[in-house]
Amino acid sequence: MQTSLAEWARNSAIGQEADEILRRCVHCGFCTATCPTYQVLGDELDSPRGRIYLIKEVLEGKEPTRSTQQHLDRCLTCRNCETTCPSGVEYGRLIDIGRHLVEQKVERPPAEQVQRKALRSGLNSSFFAPAYRVGQALRGWLPATLQRKVMARRDPGALPSTFSQPRQVLIMAGCVQPSMMPTIDAATIRVLNRIGIGTRVIQGASCCGALNFHLDDQDAALAQMRANIDAWLPWIESGKIEAIVMNASGCGATVVEYAHHLRHDPQYAVKAQKVVDHVRDVAQIVAPHTQLLREQIDIARLPRRPAFHPPCTLQHWQGLRPLSEKLLADLGLTLQPFNESHLCCGSAGAYSVLQPEISTTLRDRKLSHLQEARPDMVLSSNIGCIGHLQSGTDTPVRHWIEVVDEALRPLRG
Ligand code: SF4
Ligand code: SF4
Repeated sequence: MQTSLAEWARNSAIGQEADEILRRCVHCGFCTATCPTYQVLGDELDSPRGRIYLIKEVLEGKEPTRSTQQHLDRCLTCRNCETTCPSGVEYGRLIDIGRHLVEQKVERPPAEQVQRKALRSGLNSSFFAPAYRVGQALRGWLPATLQRKVMARRDPGALPSTFSQPRQVLIMAGCVQPSMMPTIDAATIRVLNRIGIGTRVIQGASCCGALNFHLDDQDAALAQMRANIDAWLPWIESGKIEAIVMNASGCGATVVEYAHHLRHDPQYAVKAQKVVDHVRDVAQIVAPHTQLLREQIDIARLPRRPAFHPPCTLQHWQGLRPLSEKLLADLGLTLQPFNESHLCCGSAGAYSVLQPEISTTLRDRKLSHLQEARPDMVLSSNIGCIGHLQSGTDTPVRHWIEVVDEALRPLRG
């Protein structure tokens, strides 16, 4: 694609980066076939190619409008278009730049500003955990629509002491996961313990920054990234841990891009790269030990017909879908295939709150394809997708690590 950037864009680092990405696009339109918003809305401006064109216009000096902002807002940032694109267009990086530029030029209506601020501060606040517990306690009295959004509390169970294990890893503390589904972290700790890996959760690290980043506060997101690096780096440099383990693919996808986000920060660029070099999805940690784990699993306790929903942050951002599916099959799970497994379920961080209609349409579309496979359980690897899908079905939706944990035979002695 030919570009003719405005002078301010030609002279800025993000303008030059965007230009490189834009020039790769050949306008073939292959990406429209796998874009969830184009599939649902049928509007070229709600497709990757259309959004690329809108961002190009802004960089060439055209004033963005509220309509430009809304087309960019409707993007799920699922990056399905990147997987499909034959020209290697890094759409994810381009949409970050485009949104940032448009945000500076187009003021949102007051109600939207309040909603976004409330989401940023609410989900990042220390009050989230107690508030969520109150919601769980009152779940039975909540209206049906709200009840489906609050996960029933499950006992995380007893945790083994794992400090004496020869190998040690850090676990991402996350922001909402420990409150919403503490069973995921507990299961991770127990499963890793069975393969000789001890797990530590350390203070000082918190949300990966994704929420703030995608809710128009990139400065706050970068501050969270720096704080996490400061908390993790001493453990890496002391040699006490070998990896930082992610059991929510949404967080993992953000943390593996810390070095990119902090590339212009002279104090943090190198530190961020060191962190990125140590980040692993929990499936990557478990995969080399499949045989050892399989010997400890009671196959009769595994679901018989599970379907695996690969989150976009796992398959399109990190390319870990094949590894995850092979791991689950090697552990004895017979995964049921279903149509459109490449498409987003509509969760996408705060998207289900900000764009409820598109989000619900995509959820129901995903669930109808899943139900055709008649699964007795839906497995996934990201808390956002798990909660979102569960809100629309009575079929249990779980993180795969929980299912593996529950199938482990008790330790003797
Ligand atoms: S598939 Fe790639 S090259 Fe083709 S229009 Fe989409 S982004 Fe551009
Ligand atoms: S990131 Fe997803 S929703 Fe956004 S343009 Fe690409 S395919 Fe469409």
